[in-house]
Amino acid sequence: MIEPGKAELVKELAYEAGFADVRMCAHESGSLFFLFLPYRPAKPAGYGKVNLSNYYITSQKGYLFMKNLLLRLAQEGVYAEEFQGTGVKQLALKTGGFIGLNSLYYHEQYGSFVSIHVVKTNIVCGDSGAPGQSECPKCGNCIAACPAGAITGRGLCVSRCVRAHSNERRIPAGYRGFIYQLLGCERCQAACPFNRAAPGEAYSFDLVELLEGKHLKQIRTLVGPNYGRRRIIVGQAVIYAANAHYAPALAAVEALAGDEFVGETARWAREILKKS
Ligand code: SF4
Ligand code: SF4
Repeated sequence: MIEPGKAELVKELAYEAGFADVRMCAHESGSLFFLFLPYRPAKPAGYGKVNLSNYYITSQKGYLFMKNLLLRLAQEGVYAEEFQGTGVKQLALKTGGFIGLNSLYYHEQYGSFVSIHVVKTNIVCGDSGAPGQSECPKCGNCIAACPAGAITGRGLCVSRCVRAHSNERRIPAGYRGFIYQLLGCERCQAACPFNRAAPGEAYSFDLVELLEGKHLKQIRTLVGPNYGRRRIIVGQAVIYAANAHYAPALAAVEALAGDEFVGETARWAREILKKS
């Protein structure tokens, strides 16, 4: 039996939790709810500063919103859990949007600057949403913008994408030159004509202070404990300092040269900064 009342309750509580758009579609014997949280790309960081990716901040915010939502649904007696299956982007297509050449999901209003969270319920859904009508026109802007050559006319080569490497314990040497912020890469998205949002506020951090280990607690709060690990954040700050040729960071980088986790990266950066 179709249960519109319960579906409406999920949507209402999802909006109350903070999500900006909620869509649903039938899935197996129940349904999936797609919860969208948009963000804006960050304005360029000022001199001596580095930005934290707005995507990772938004994703963590959405994760916390979803936890609250699941709690509220449990209180209301509605079975719901975080969807752990694969193919989220393909499933989201059942409710609209399209997938770009860069393999990202595009929402009609928010473009690809959106964090998607999915809740699975046993609510029986009458229809399967409104399938996406538009398609990526393959303009090629993202191909040209990608520093790693990860996108071709056939799509994304995941293993070549900076995102596949930028959150590892140590950035591979060949990828260091592509680091322009803390966590991730949004170059292909910034170049896409479907992303019309103007750059917004950024979480920028003083480079030298970051290298000295400050702000890590705040960053962990913003992006969660996994992405906020010292070796990831400080390691990328070291790389960014070298890429930006930010000579005032030399002493702080030098102090990290013997560090167990970021020492090798710091020694590499030190040589670049000495010439800056
Ligand atoms: S930049 Fe062009 S080719 Fe790439 S995802 Fe956007 S519309 Fe598609
Ligand atoms: S996220 Fe960066 S590295 Fe990955 S495809 Fe886009 S531009 Fe290329």
